Amino acid sequence: MKILVINCGSSSLKYQLIDMDDESVIAKGLCERIGIDGSKLTHQPAGKDKFVVEKAMPNHTVAIELVMDALQDPEHGVIKSTEEIAAVGHRVLHAGTTYSESIIVNEDVKRVIRECFDLGPLHNPANLMGIEACEAAMPGKPNVAVWDTGFGMAMPEKAYLYAIPREYYEKYSIRRYGFHGTSHMFVSGEAIKFGGLDPEKAKVIVCHLGNGASVSASIGGRCVDTSMGLTPLEGLIMGTRSGDIDPAVVQFICNKEGKDVNEVLNILNKKSGVLGMSGGISSDFRDIENAKKEGNHLAEVALDAFIYRVAKYIGAYTAAMNGVDAIAFTAGVGENDKAGRKAICDYLGYLGVKIDDAANDVRGKNAVISAPDSKVKVMLIPTNEELAIARETKRLI
Ligand code: ADP
Repeated sequence: MKILVINCGSSSLKYQLIDMDDESVIAKGLCERIGIDGSKLTHQPAGKDKFVVEKAMPNHTVAIELVMDALQDPEHGVIKSTEEIAAVGHRVLHAGTTYSESIIVNEDVKRVIRECFDLGPLHNPANLMGIEACEAAMPGKPNVAVWDTGFGMAMPEKAYLYAIPREYYEKYSIRRYGFHGTSHMFVSGEAIKFGGLDPEKAKVIVCHLGNGASVSASIGGRCVDTSMGLTPLEGLIMGTRSGDIDPAVVQFICNKEGKDVNEVLNILNKKSGVLGMSGGISSDFRDIENAKKEGNHLAEVALDAFIYRVAKYIGAYTAAMNGVDAIAFTAGVGENDKAGRKAICDYLGYLGVKIDDAANDVRGKNAVISAPDSKVKVMLIPTNEELAIARETKRLI
């Protein structure tokens, strides 16, 4: 069975065609600059050369048509007809409070995606366009929505409610949702399997550390808490996002700089994090690490603060679950930065965490990186959101 996975951004569309018999990627690709001049599609069939199509893509419908053409191209394609595709799985950002589980798309589901445009203004409209484009290109083919907010919906009220007047939750569903849900679901599940943990009771903390970063705590795969909130701005220090901050800072900057709330929120989302803390060096953690190695103090402080915040969340989530069996690192920084993993774990000696330096010298595959006598299993689990979406899609159809 072949499943197509689609991840639409406002001006981009990523796709993977996955053979679910062995979960291998048959082809993958990216449409860039949709709706902007100079759009192009890069198609990568497994084991064959890359294939680039430079054609105008005024919208996602045209982009999907080009993806379908690339998949069926006589020379670079991997299927003879779209009949070979059993279903399409879509990453959808926000389902508000309506859905916590993945679902086959119907008119109600599309209405909910539309109703949540103001909760996910950049992503939900693009996600809906991707779904409608697939409906047009492959009439009758099931489309499945896999929600980025789905995993966090299992949080108990004490974790998801903000301490603000109740009416705002009742009127506008203002609460903590959490994001990166597909990744947290996938990695916590893999950690339980790979670590040989009890699938019903295992207490797992997942550190998804990329440009966007979040931590989750789950028991038996059910989310207990997660660090992002109403939007992805809450929680950890990220590439460009501030994470947790006193809201009064917003008012203070507005007053001092003559900016409005939207401008300051834009600064907190796009110009803060390690980029802002380092005085503008970069949002890319590799650049920050290189600057630190060259003796740049601000880069060093930014990295220290990033690591310190992750360690504090691990401590908080250990308390939330009254213990932790496993800590799993994933995403760009989590999977590649062994020094960062070690530095975070250095804060966790009180939990009996012991890193094995040789085992920690690893990249790109599932691995236990803690010492045999560590009280908590620490793991590296590469995330694979596309595969998680494909598995959900297969399960539902
Ligand atoms: P996102 O999906 O949120 O854009 P990724 O999960 O792809 O992010 O992670 C990207 C981040 O991972 C970048 O900031 C990059 O610098 C960082 N990264 C990749 N390799 C390393 C490394 N060896 N050491 C430190 N950071 C790394």
